[in-house]
Amino acid sequence: MSVRVLVVEDERAIADTLLYALRTEGFEPVWCDLGGRALELVRSDEPALVILDVGLPDLSGFEVCRRIRTFSEVPILFLTARGEEVDRIVGLEIGADDYVTKPFSPREVATRVRTILRRSRPHPSSTGFHLDAASRRVTFAGRLLDLTRFEYELLRALLAHRGRIFTRAELMEMVWAGAEETQDRTVDTHIKTLRAKIRAVAPEADPIQTHRGLGYSLDEP
Ligand code: CA
Repeated sequence: MSVRVLVVEDERAIADTLLYALRTEGFEPVWCDLGGRALELVRSDEPALVILDVGLPDLSGFEVCRRIRTFSEVPILFLTARGEEVDRIVGLEIGADDYVTKPFSPREVATRVRTILRRSRPHPSSTGFHLDAASRRVTFAGRLLDLTRFEYELLRALLAHRGRIFTRAELMEMVWAGAEETQDRTVDTHIKTLRAKIRAVAPEADPIQTHRGLGYSLDEP
């Protein structure tokens, strides 16, 4: 499974070398050039780490970092120009994890990213499900589930009423209404693949319950 790294850098040439180095190291980089956009992406994409330039056109990197810290513990690696207030970054209230000073070697940055990810503690909210409706993504135990459209809809229906038992007919109606081709076993087949995908990221977990003769439910947290 690929690890998403958000790169917030307004100088395209610098961003490009970083994206290339990160891809080479096996990461999945996401790029943006504005602080405001970065805040949206931290929420919607839940990157594993953020590389954040201090000098951005809209907000300063410091301000972006401060705002991220109001809702996320994602590790942050600052990119600074020489002479910027490095003391502020590593100290006190900023809440960054590390910094590199420009000009830097992209490979060094990629290595630094790996080191930070290795030592960073698991996110406190990385247990259970987290659904992001805007990006239609669901994570379980902090890891992204690679879901098909119907698996996503099915899980969304179950998540909306945890603990409630849904009959197959109800799930068909909620998830497959208007779908072209469905069969008797459609719900069961999708429950099966959904369970396998959850097990793939968390082998001990089995949150979907089968109620014989009734249907399915999702455990309450
Ligand atoms: Ca800049």
